[in-house]
Amino acid sequence: MKYYSTNRQAPEVTLSEAVIKGLAPDKGLYMPERINTLPKSFFDHIEDLSLQEIAFEVAKAFFGEDIPADDLKNIVYDTLQFEIPLVKVNDRIYSLELYHGPTCAFKDVGARFMARLLSYFVKQHPSNKGNVHVLVATSGDTGSAVANGFLGVPGIDVTVLYPKDKVSLIQEKQFTTLGRNITALEVEGVFDDCQRLVKEAFMDQDLNNKFFLTSANSINVARFLPQAFYYFHAYAQLKKQNPEAAKNMVICVPSGNFGNICAGIFGAKMGLPVKRFIASNNANDIFFQYLQTGHYNPRATQATLANAMDVGDPSNFARIVNLYGGGQQKAEKITPEEAHEAIISEISGATYNDEQIKAAMLLSLGKDGYVCDPHGACGYQALTYGLKPGEAGIFLETAHPAKFKDTVEAIIGQEVKIPATLQKFMDGEKKSLPMTNSFEEFKLFLLNHL
Ligand SMILES: *Cc1c(COP(=O)(O)O)cnc(C)c1O
Repeated sequence: MKYYSTNRQAPEVTLSEAVIKGLAPDKGLYMPERINTLPKSFFDHIEDLSLQEIAFEVAKAFFGEDIPADDLKNIVYDTLQFEIPLVKVNDRIYSLELYHGPTCAFKDVGARFMARLLSYFVKQHPSNKGNVHVLVATSGDTGSAVANGFLGVPGIDVTVLYPKDKVSLIQEKQFTTLGRNITALEVEGVFDDCQRLVKEAFMDQDLNNKFFLTSANSINVARFLPQAFYYFHAYAQLKKQNPEAAKNMVICVPSGNFGNICAGIFGAKMGLPVKRFIASNNANDIFFQYLQTGHYNPRATQATLANAMDVGDPSNFARIVNLYGGGQQKAEKITPEEAHEAIISEISGATYNDEQIKAAMLLSLGKDGYVCDPHGACGYQALTYGLKPGEAGIFLETAHPAKFKDTVEAIIGQEVKIPATLQKFMDGEKKSLPMTNSFEEFKLFLLNHL
């Protein structure tokens, strides 16, 4: 399968090139040239299949031409070493709990899959530069998902750069206590300094001559496509629990960069019977405004309680427009107005400010006895007020409430228990190396340590 760039100004590439490059040279996002549909027989019996079995079928549709079935099966099964249960919240609303992985958030799925896929490619085509080095700048959550996703994966090292004193204790512990193939650098500066150091490293000739450097950005096809797996698993569970409800399934996705919902839309294009999607925003309502007006106006990011959704210019917007036939599509190019029409026919929006997020958390606890994290709360609220008669709604509970323990406890006035997976990090010993924000020093470090 070939991958094209959403900007259409770069050559098509193979899967391995798309994974290793991440972003296309024309700054576009890679997209698979085709979306294979799954047969009716798969959906007829999907409720009898396990998460891994479902994921393997979906993975074959994306990657089956490029990776032998046995290898792909290993990658998929090894990625999904945890459950993704669909929990009934009330008569009409279900929560897809994506927080049972190592860092208690949905990004574990994509990060673990990408790590294993990259490792597979490195084994197939060993580089004369030795290990692949993943450099990642983080303001908190990306670092933990990537570091844990790549932990112990052969042939790959990860260096995480994070701003000193600017990430929460639990976030810091999630990438500084791992050791093995993960190194954490505590940078004297802010997130933008970390990002600049990483970007300069990718452009530096000396470093690139000597090392095989790559990013594990969330826009990478190997991180976002596997997120389609759990949409099928959600449907399978709903069908098993309530076959009638499964006929009118609405999926609500708390969205920031729009990678997660984009994977769901791929699922729908593969035949998953989703009646419609709801994209729920916090106060960063750029997509919501687009749905209302047809105009996409990126803005500066505003800090909110659901901070993993604080995105003022969602990168995957280009992918969504592309999926609905807009943008620089190869075959038939449709007008922006036509693309907007197509998008609003299948996706509606919602937006909640911090006060409304708090109200949603109190409502889900008070009415249904279910504790939402601030992100999932945006999903719960959009279903509570947006479901039409006869519809059943699933919202993606994107992170465990204990990841935002202080915030959540202050709002709901009740203790939130820390799951064992998070407690294990808290008990670990922090190991990080200090770094200034000077590129020369960072480069010297890489030359001496990689
Ligand atoms: C990353 C993240 C989101 C937003 O997902 P996108 O794919 O960027 O839309 C929502 N909730 C949590 C907890 C996240 O970590």
